[in-house]
Amino acid sequence: MKAGLYFHIPFCIRKCRYCSFNSIPYDKELAQRYVSALLREMDMRGMAEPSSVYIGGGTPTVLPAEGLRIVLDGVKEYFNPAAGTEITIEANPGTLERIDFPALKAIGVKRISLGAQSFNPKELLALGRIHGPGEITRAVNTLREAGIANIGLDLIYSLPGQGLRQWEESIDEAIKLSPEHISMYDLSIEEGTEFYAMEKAGLITLPPEEAQVEMYLSAVKRLEEAGYGRYEISNFARPGYECAHNLNYWSAGDFIGFGAGAHSRAGARAARNVSGVIEYIGRLENGENPCAAAEILTGMEREREFIMLGLRKRRGLSFEDFRAGFGADFMSKYGPAAMKMTDAGYMAISPDGICLTMRGVLASNRVIMEFF
Ligand code: SF4
Repeated sequence: MKAGLYFHIPFCIRKCRYCSFNSIPYDKELAQRYVSALLREMDMRGMAEPSSVYIGGGTPTVLPAEGLRIVLDGVKEYFNPAAGTEITIEANPGTLERIDFPALKAIGVKRISLGAQSFNPKELLALGRIHGPGEITRAVNTLREAGIANIGLDLIYSLPGQGLRQWEESIDEAIKLSPEHISMYDLSIEEGTEFYAMEKAGLITLPPEEAQVEMYLSAVKRLEEAGYGRYEISNFARPGYECAHNLNYWSAGDFIGFGAGAHSRAGARAARNVSGVIEYIGRLENGENPCAAAEILTGMEREREFIMLGLRKRRGLSFEDFRAGFGADFMSKYGPAAMKMTDAGYMAISPDGICLTMRGVLASNRVIMEFF
């Protein structure tokens, strides 16, 4: 089975104020046991042919170099990725001194995704990040010196109190560093985060929707002028550097997640692991399966997933892929919704498929709901 492999490292130096990801503070002894548990899970899962490998978190680079090497050696031993397989590690610019990147490159790491988030020192402080803008620049230089030829930078916009000018400065700083890939996500405040409590208490407010749209459009223009193609709503890359791992998700390809809280989907079967780190380690140490829940998705659920994810891609949804996956003609099933959205200027239809126009991108959630 060909699948994207995801490995979750749920440790961070400290929790960022907006973070709702499954992460806990780094603890050396717990992290060692967690890495051993990951190896046991790899052993338990059996064969898969990796189309891509992604080590995310949390903060994978909070592990000492040896920890990451053990995980990658496990990936090689159990899944033997073909030469040229995209192998990504997420990194925090504030943790790079722990990592021996030339050594990681030597064992196959191709791509580093750096969580920059902003180049404004006040914004980074307000987000609770552990680094300043100077460390982002240093991180990129360190990675280049180590010979990493594929670097991605993640940014967040629509921050409390952020104006268009501050956001444009961050985008421009990111472009100056010349990474191969830039992602930008609008901040959403999730329950359970420090920002959630601060918003409830009236201490922070997000910019209004019109300002968010202005920030998005300005960034698209700046990025495209600098040679970054928008290949998904929030993702931009120089030609040939689109992230294969994420493209597999958006194309509704199979994926297997390892680690606490990781999700998997193979064909119609969807599953997720227990999310508690201690519980995850305990299960594997006792030789038990870490799966918390599994279900078989209905045909309708899979079609919805395919449409919802496919329309996020700039090239949109392919009629041929829909027929191959579901044995049906897309326009025979969804033609009225597609025509309605096309007539309203939200979508474009070609003989090969459908995709969102920029107007549709700005209203993507509402447009996608027309199909359900
Ligand atoms: S570094 Fe990432 S995963 Fe860790 S707390 Fe911050 S946002 Fe969350």
